[in-house]
Amino acid sequence: MRIGFVGLGNMGAPMASNLASAGHDVIGYDTANVVVDGVAAADSAPQAARDAKVVITMLPDGNVLRKVAEQIVPAMDRGSVLLDCSTVDVNSARDVAKMATAAGLLPLDAPVSGGIAGAAAGTLTFMVGGDETGLDIAGELFQIMGSKAVHCGPCGNGQAAKICNNMILGATMIVTCEAFALADRLGLDRKAMFDVVSTSSGYSWSMNAYCPAPGIGPVSPADNGYRPGFASELMLKDLRLARQAAESVDADTPLGKEAMELYRKFVEEEAGHGKDFSAMLPRFEARGSV
Ligand code: NAD
Repeated sequence: MRIGFVGLGNMGAPMASNLASAGHDVIGYDTANVVVDGVAAADSAPQAARDAKVVITMLPDGNVLRKVAEQIVPAMDRGSVLLDCSTVDVNSARDVAKMATAAGLLPLDAPVSGGIAGAAAGTLTFMVGGDETGLDIAGELFQIMGSKAVHCGPCGNGQAAKICNNMILGATMIVTCEAFALADRLGLDRKAMFDVVSTSSGYSWSMNAYCPAPGIGPVSPADNGYRPGFASELMLKDLRLARQAAESVDADTPLGKEAMELYRKFVEEEAGHGKDFSAMLPRFEARGSV
């Protein structure tokens, strides 16, 4: 299949490379002039999009996506798929989908979870919004770039699923870190706490699979000096998108809002930028009750 790929950053480059390794004809474009193994380099986004059956975008945010969509939609063939895998706000995803549909294209929003390691290994999970027709065409690409694709409904619902998941993740990580810091002060051994919580009703992915306390549970960024993993600033981005979405539909999400504020402080005022999002634990360790 001829595939255009716009946005060859930390995530896009390995995803494009995996598609090329699987035998697809991939032509890519990035403003940073990135060279990717097996991927032909286009001089512009419209050049990458021309004659492609599927054009994949993997970009930083909704504003960049809107700009790129304005450039590539007119260059794409009717009936081809515009597959955005970036994490963006629901409204940008829906507006771009409207523009693409009006031009006779099949838009899909399919943000991912799995991070850079998942992109490299081809084990991402895709949360997909859009029509079955587009999914039928792009389905085989999800199998190459990932291990799972969940159809979440119409355009924008992939982004909705992503931010709801990450709002749960952010709030859960914070409370897991709080609980470890509280346990320390109560004289409760961390390993004992892990053994109890990981098999009791407080269990979660944050505790069981990605424990923020070093030396406990499966290997996680905590065992690696809190090098990401999933960087705190990316968690902040997703919590801001969740907040924006909540405001746009008048939903009450107090813990999501508080999680956003804590990660904002951590990233912008407390040297959390560049640290894994589980580095909230040393942050709480160093603080007293306020
Ligand atoms: P990145 O910053 O490494 O990559 C984005 C790329 O887009 C850059 O190479 C940049 O040069 C390029 N770009 C910017 N403007 C452009 C334009 N107008 N035309 C063409 N290229 C342009 O970011 P990333 O880590 O690859 O993340 C990409 C998306 O995936 C983001 O939306 C992010 O939230 C999401 N995501 C990232 C992770 C992760 O762990 N990194 C995990 C899940 C989702």
